[in-house]
Order: sequence, then C-alpha cells, then structure tokens
Amino acid sequence: MNELHADVVVAGAGPTGLMLAAELRLAGVDAVVIERLSERTGLSKALNLQPRTAEMLDLRGLLPRAEERAFATVQEGHFAAVPISYAGWDTRRPYQLGIPQAQVEELLEERFAELGGKVLRGHELVGLSQDAAGVRVVTPELVLSCRYLVGCDGGRSTVRKLLDVPFEGEDGAGYGVVADVVVDRIPDRAAGTWTSMRGMVQSAGETGFCGLIPLAEPLLYRLTFGDRARRPATFGSPVTEAEVHTAFAATYGPAVIKEIRWMSRFSDASRLAAHYRVGHVLLAGDAAHIHFPAGGQGLNLGVQDAANLGWKLAAALNGFADVLDTYEPERRAVGAAVLDNVAAQNGLIPQTRAGRALRALFTTLADLPEVSHHLSGLVSGLAVRYPAPPHAHPLTGARLADFRLPDGSWASTLFHRGHHVLLTTPGADLSGLPPVPGPLSTTDLPALPLAPAALIRPDGYFAWLPVT
Ligand SMILES: Cc1cc2nc3c(=O)[nH]c(=O)nc-3n(C[C@H](O)[C@H](O)[C@H](O)COP(=O)(O)OP(=O)(O)OC[C@H]3O[C@@H](n4cnc5c(N)ncnc54)[C@H](O)[C@@H]3O)c2cc1C
Repeated sequence: MNELHADVVVAGAGPTGLMLAAELRLAGVDAVVIERLSERTGLSKALNLQPRTAEMLDLRGLLPRAEERAFATVQEGHFAAVPISYAGWDTRRPYQLGIPQAQVEELLEERFAELGGKVLRGHELVGLSQDAAGVRVVTPELVLSCRYLVGCDGGRSTVRKLLDVPFEGEDGAGYGVVADVVVDRIPDRAAGTWTSMRGMVQSAGETGFCGLIPLAEPLLYRLTFGDRARRPATFGSPVTEAEVHTAFAATYGPAVIKEIRWMSRFSDASRLAAHYRVGHVLLAGDAAHIHFPAGGQGLNLGVQDAANLGWKLAAALNGFADVLDTYEPERRAVGAAVLDNVAAQNGLIPQTRAGRALRALFTTLADLPEVSHHLSGLVSGLAVRYPAPPHAHPLTGARLADFRLPDGSWASTLFHRGHHVLLTTPGADLSGLPPVPGPLSTTDLPALPLAPAALIRPDGYFAWLPVT
C-alpha cells in the first residue's frame, strides 16, 4: 500500500474541496485532494454564482475566469421564485453570474494546479483515525497521514459518518427533478435568454412547480420540476425520460423536448451537521449542510465555507491554533440561516387559498426596497456578518465593500495573495492592533472613510479597527 504525507488532505473535488485546496496552496500549505471519481462528471448541476461568491473570487483575481465561462448575467435573485433585487447593496457585483457548476469546478481545479496542487482521482476515502498529532486517511490504494483532514465529500459524506457527527434535520416530504433539455422552439411561457428570474418558475397543482432556465446554447434549457409536499412512488428510482416529457408537456406544451442531455432526482431534505469540527477533522460544503436548492445557494455556501476555512487552517499549521476554533461558530450559523431561509421559501409555495393570498402579499412586500434588500442579503451571502468581540468597532465582522484606491485600482486587488490586509492613514493609532495570524500586506492611504485604520481578513471581513 502506498503511503503519502500532506499537511492537509481534502476529501472531495467538488466546488468546496477545490476552492479550499486552492486557498491552502495559495497560503503555501501542502494540500492534497482525493476524489472518488476517476474523472470530472462535467454535469452542469448548480447554475449560478451569487454576488458574495463573485466578490470572493474577485478577492483572488479569479472572477475574470468565471466571467469568461459564464453564459448569463442575471440582475436579480429570487426567494421562492419571487424576484428580488440586489440593487440596494454596496457591491460591484449586484447580479448572479450564470455559470454551470462544472465550469466553476474546472476553473478552481485549474487554479489549484497552477499553484502546484494535484487532485488524486479514483481514490475514495473509506477510513480515518486521528490522534493528537493528526489524521490517518485510508483509501483502498493509499494511506495518507496529515495534520488536518477536511471532508468536502458532499451530502452523503463518508467523513461525517465516520466521525459519527449527527446530521440534524428532516428528510422532507417533497422532491425535485432536474434535466438539461433541448426543445424544438422557445416555449410560450419561457424566455430565450436568462436575464431575469421573472416567470422562470410556474406552479403546477397545489404544491408542484415546473421551471425553465435558458442555458448557453439556443433552445437548451434547465428544466426543474417536482413537488414540495409529496413524492411519487418512483422517488427511489432513477428519473425516466417519460417523467421528464410528461412534466414538460403539462406546463410548456405544445413545445416538445428533442433531447435530454442529463437528468437527476433530488430530495428536499434539510440537514445541518451538529459539529463542523472533531479534533483535526473538519467538514465543509454539502458534507456539513444540505437543503432544497431554493434561491441557488448550496454551491455558494460551500465556496464561502472554504474561503473561511482556508486561511484559518494555514494559520493553525503556523502556530495560531485558536483561529481555527472560530470556523465552526462562524460558518455553522451561516449554514443554519440558509436552512431557515429555504424553509421559509417552502412555506410560500402551497397554492391553497391561504397560500395564494400569502404569496400575493409577500410578492407585493418583496417589491419594497427594504424588504428586497433584506431578502437579497439572505440569499446572496452579502448579509453575512461574523461575531465580534465586546466593545469592538461596529464594523468588526462585516464584509469590506470594494472601493477605489487613490491610484485607481480596486481595494480587492490587495487580497490576491490571500494575506491579511492592513489599511492605515497618517497618524492612525495602531496600538490596539491584535497579533495577525499569517502574512500581512500593509497599504498606506491618505484617508479612509470609516476609520483611521482597518485590518481585514484574507476572506474580506473586518478583523479589527481602532475604537476611538
Ligand atoms: C438540482 C440541483 C440544483 C442545484 N442548483 C444550485 C444552484 O443553482 N446554485 C447553488 O449554489 N447550488 C445549487 N445546488 C447545490 C450544489 O450543487 C451543491 O451545494 C454543491 O455541489 C456542493 O458542493 P460540494 O463541493 O460541497 O459537494 P459535491 O459537489 O457533492 O462534491 C463532493 C465531491 O466529493 C466526492 N466524494 C464523495 N465521497 C467521497 C469519498 N469518500 N472520497 C473521496 N471523494 C468523495 C464526490 O465524488 C464529489 O466530487 C444544486 C443542487 C442540486 C441537486
């Protein structure tokens, strides 16, 4: 049996694992990714980057690569299929980028490789054990010893199960089906290109739904249908072509599906790991949280977990072990909040007399700028704010909104190396500056709008500002 050593082993080369691995390599950490599948599936799956994920990629100079691969820019998000605007947010990215999950994975793997990393494909984690020094990871062909293991191995996570971490929540009562389909003409109730969320989903019966999102090729659509309250007898079996044709015809006939590129069934289970960390083993992405894909949040949540965890693992490996203790409280709270907003979206679906009235009222409310701001903050990740110590400056824990530096460049470019960033102005009192758990880039500015100085974490959240 071959034996390998790495500082960190990441199990799973989905978007979460690849983002994490790239972040670790950027911080100079010897990280290895093991992936069960021998090659990438190439399946489109998730279709969007939310504004905060776009900002996060921008902090690493990766956004242009996503934009090159994107097939749509959508100026709004949605909450239970009710369009919501991102316009009230102080962001350069008040839109969703339409990009298939396969393309996000490809660009992150490309980045990981450029930084010297390699995905070991065809290696399934089947066992693990840990002691005070680290973790022993077992696959059928390899044994890997490492200081930390991160389970980014998806909703059915083997790592989570081997740790015996409860996956708390419900299995749900509903289901959905996704299928990428080529149709013979643009259906009457569908759009030709994806520019808005308006009219993207139609109700079908009391709790059913059916939606079409135009993809990168003319007449290629993502069909999604299902029922939020009941499951067909076929729920446990693979989707059939007949099921897809029938659901499509009921909402979008007389247009006809000419080709089905792929199809998959999913559930509306809603579960959150009771712990994101057990000793030297951590969980991120779908391994830590699963929910119905309402609002387009799952991939985005996982990538944000990875952005939060990467620099903290690097810090822990460099002697700042305490920093890693903040990962679970920060990210588990965000995961729980997403599960809550998905549950609230579920509540807005039923087409009963009361349900229709509630939805109509909600749709009116969602047009109010303050309500839209609140809702779009929930699904976009822009409202995420981490806990701050008592008596800290009020901005501590908030995200840094990008702004122009005096030389015309954007502040986000200061984060490309993944360092902490200290912004200072002449005469700023830095006496309260805490120890920085990693490399620091300092930039002197003539003035800052909010405080005379600010320390910002590699993932773009304020870590410290002087309190006057
Ligand atoms: C129908 C549908 C539509 C969706 N749409 C959206 C959307 O529009 N927007 C959005 O943000 N999210 C969406 N999601 C959610 C999104 O697809 C997931 O949240 C995302 O894939 C999670 O990424 P991950 O890397 O955490 O896990 P995964 O993508 O599941 O990756 C896990 C990886 O680990 C590997 N693996 C598993 N077990 C092992 C093991 N034991 N050893 C080694 N490797 C292993 C797997 O092969 C896989 O490659 C959607 C989901 C579904 C089902």
